[in-house]
Amino acid sequence: MSKTQNNSQTSIYRGRFAPSPTGPLHFGSLIAAVASYCQARAMKGEWLLRIEDIDPPREVAGASDEIIRTLEQFGFEWDAEISYQSQRSEYYLDALETLKGLGLLYPCACSRKEISKINSLGIYPGTCRTGLANGREARSWRLLTESVDVAFRDAIQGPQQFSMENEIGDFVLKRADGLFAYQLAVGIDDALQGITQVVRGSDLLDSTPRQLYLQQILGQQMLGHPHPDYAHHPVVTDAQGEKLSKQKLAPALPLQQVVEQLYRALSFLGQQPPRTLLEADRDSLWQWSIENWSLTKIPRQMAISIEEIDKMTAIVE
Ligand code: GLU
Repeated sequence: MSKTQNNSQTSIYRGRFAPSPTGPLHFGSLIAAVASYCQARAMKGEWLLRIEDIDPPREVAGASDEIIRTLEQFGFEWDAEISYQSQRSEYYLDALETLKGLGLLYPCACSRKEISKINSLGIYPGTCRTGLANGREARSWRLLTESVDVAFRDAIQGPQQFSMENEIGDFVLKRADGLFAYQLAVGIDDALQGITQVVRGSDLLDSTPRQLYLQQILGQQMLGHPHPDYAHHPVVTDAQGEKLSKQKLAPALPLQQVVEQLYRALSFLGQQPPRTLLEADRDSLWQWSIENWSLTKIPRQMAISIEEIDKMTAIVE
């Protein structure tokens, strides 16, 4: 892949926030935005905004613009033009071609249902690895993986190790509906955009071995193709223990409560903001957040319920 973009070899920190336009930003997304932003600013680095609009069936009309407006109202400032994955197909196609050339991409006829019948965890059993059976048609395209372990040190959750064979399996890079898979687009973009550290929710922790694995293979082919470090913060769950998500229609962030919401996000992230900040204006709150930010204060937990945070901050709504 010769069309490297922004792939600077400088040592500057570069973080990113990468929302999917499947609905408005909610408190869970604010956590990822605040954590990645404070970390980038505290490291005196850059922070990029990337809209992950590669899944039209799941998109909500107008959500991209609404997300951008919300981020502006909350006082986030990004350092380069916003990138849109929908405009980056050439990079994903290039990567698929490279993998094909390496003999590492193969067509697969299996449906999710068929796979889960064989493996209850949905780990691909390798049915189409050696070719499609007679009469079967290609649906998706999978990466042929080796039975190695992928290990990395997560800056919040600590050392991680995943067995490609037993925990991941050959994963989809091009979906049955013809769309690029999330793992492909994110793995490629983080590397090509020169992201030095990905700070995001723990729900994506098990995506990281996939993305690292992909980056490693492509790194051998594509000159100057680095891979980022990772930090996965706890996600916000509701009273039923379910992760707040746009698909589950988590309420949009209230734009009249910017300071309170930021204060709650900082509390959730273990930063212990003083209560006086609740009376401060937005910019003073940001100043405090960046000056006092510490990634090591973030709780080493996979999830925290919204009720806990409400108790902690005791903001009456
Ligand atoms: N686009 C993903 C989401 O909104 C996040 C991707 C990432 O941070 O890697 O859930």
